Amino acid sequence: MEDPLQSRDSVTFSSSGSDENRKERRSDFKKKLLNAFSKFKHSFKKKRVDELQAVNVVPAVVDAFRKLLIMDELLPQKHDDYHMMLRFLKARKFDIGKAKHMWADMLEWRKEFGADTIMEDFEFNELNEVIKYNPHGYHGVDKEGRPVFIERFEKLDRNKLMQVTTIDRYVKYHAQRCEEMHAIKFPACTIASKRHIDSSITILDLQGIGFCNLEEADREIMKRFLKILIDNYPQTGGQSFIINVGLELRSLRSICEYFMDPKVASKVHVIGDRYQRKLLKVIDASELPTFLGGTCTCANQGGCLRSDKGPWNNPEILKVKGSDTLTAESSSEAEDNVIAVCEEDPMASALEKLPSEQGKLLTELKMDMDHIKEGLSEQINELLSEFKKKTLS
Ligand SMILES: [Zn+2]
Repeated sequence: MEDPLQSRDSVTFSSSGSDENRKERRSDFKKKLLNAFSKFKHSFKKKRVDELQAVNVVPAVVDAFRKLLIMDELLPQKHDDYHMMLRFLKARKFDIGKAKHMWADMLEWRKEFGADTIMEDFEFNELNEVIKYNPHGYHGVDKEGRPVFIERFEKLDRNKLMQVTTIDRYVKYHAQRCEEMHAIKFPACTIASKRHIDSSITILDLQGIGFCNLEEADREIMKRFLKILIDNYPQTGGQSFIINVGLELRSLRSICEYFMDPKVASKVHVIGDRYQRKLLKVIDASELPTFLGGTCTCANQGGCLRSDKGPWNNPEILKVKGSDTLTAESSSEAEDNVIAVCEEDPMASALEKLPSEQGKLLTELKMDMDHIKEGLSEQINELLSEFKKKTLS
């Protein structure tokens, strides 16, 4: 693990004084920072996270979260990423203490599971056979540029699948795919669509599958993989379309709600056999296989689920991704987009269009948030300068 204190940051710890003293000062500072956040959190208790984002307070929160992680030596350079920290904060509804706990668990899991090296040291040689008995794969992007994952449970041959692989290896393969997604697919999609992409679309085809068809092995794989995903790669699931759902599986919605945050569960669409129109609303026909109502066949690559079609295979984009300069430019472009979204101040423009009563309420809300935003950054700066004074004296 790289030394987290080597990364760019203005918080430094003096080498003078005994270890005990420094520990005490650190813990004192942390308490104050957490206190400030607790006040901040309570002020927002009844307001929605979306409203938080609208007033540009989020970058300050992420920055403070980052400083807290650095202080606790929980920020390896590899994970020093604004969007990743934001995803963990969102997953814990901006409760900085809980987000830190989740982050620490994620680092522990990565160490135990070997996630940092899984791209290099795990070979899933049985992939070809696995796809035959459990057809799935990434195929194209949606209209916003997010990768689309398709799985056809209807074609699942569980007995043969378990002959060519094991549950442990299959779960490990899924985790390796998550790593690949963050290392290759998301950055490639970000470059191709010129906007920050860190979530994907999932289409699960359940044709002919009933609840009693789900066996212990399926549930085990699903449970273990979902746990890895939710705990360690939070907020990366965009919309999910579960299609060809028979009547007896309509309760799937409640299963999703059990596993997921209600806000995430609301992005899960459980649909019967009239799914084409809904899919074509978010995915262009040319990016959708014919078996889902699109026009793509990937005839020269053994079919759509074996082609791995997408901007991550475009040599031009890989060239851009491989070049440090251009990567920096494109990520700052993505960053600019995020900032631009904040600076546009959607609330201000919405205010003009609203009837007076609602407008008044929103104006009050905005003033309240501006006030807290100022207060928060003041508090953080005060704490930081006090801390620096103490450690450098
Ligand atoms: Zn195709």
